[in-house]
Amino acid sequence: MKVLLRLSLIFLLVFLLAQCLGANEEESFARERKQMVEGQIEARGVADKRVLRAMETVPRHLFVPEDVRAYSYLDTPLPIGSGQTISQPYIVAFMTELLALKEGDKVLEIGTGSGYQAAILSLIVREVYTIEIKRDLAKRAREILQRLGYDNVTVYAGDGYLGLPGEAPFDAIMITAATPEIPPALLDQLGTGGRMVVPVGQPSRTQNLTLVTKKSTGEISREELAPVLFVPLTRY
Ligand code: SAH
Repeated sequence: MKVLLRLSLIFLLVFLLAQCLGANEEESFARERKQMVEGQIEARGVADKRVLRAMETVPRHLFVPEDVRAYSYLDTPLPIGSGQTISQPYIVAFMTELLALKEGDKVLEIGTGSGYQAAILSLIVREVYTIEIKRDLAKRAREILQRLGYDNVTVYAGDGYLGLPGEAPFDAIMITAATPEIPPALLDQLGTGGRMVVPVGQPSRTQNLTLVTKKSTGEISREELAPVLFVPLTRY
């Protein structure tokens, strides 16, 4: 009996210690996240309060593989498996700000990857649709988004080059993979007055982060904003 009591006490202590360490880890990640927003994102000129708040809220460390978790809030892209990467936090914030989102917007993302960018978008707008060509990544992103309660995100496994005609038009479209030319289906699915942000250029060279606007006349304007390096938009 005594042995049993002692064992239960030991289990209880170990359990409490683990809880404590977990809570501490979350607190220290939250501190790192705040520093990331101030030092990497605000400092470089991102000013949209909703974007800054989303970047401070979403636990980036839960979207990356465990072996790189400690680097979650560093000023760098990280590998997420299947040869793909999650963008540097500043690039995520900058691209989100460029879309000039409104609360009621319906947004399409091409290249779900880890699901992190979709989570950021989901805190700012009403509905997020995101397409990932690699089935294992789509499945993992869907699971983590669901587990963390990002209920207004729908993840599709498929070729984002074709968009989602059934859900169009979109108020904004973000492509998070490099493409030499903007997929015509996605231009079609952008609503009037809508904005699209896309890295345009050849893979394995720097691309031009491009802001595309569809005016009320239907006319398309393009503005090249910054050199970036993304993994390629691929086809099946
Ligand atoms: N936005 C992601 C990172 C994107 S990395 C994040 O927040 O983590 C680019 C992703 O685009 C990769 O996961 C890659 O598999 C995916 N991709 C490449 N071509 C695609 C296509 N045609 N349709 C959908 N996804 C594609």
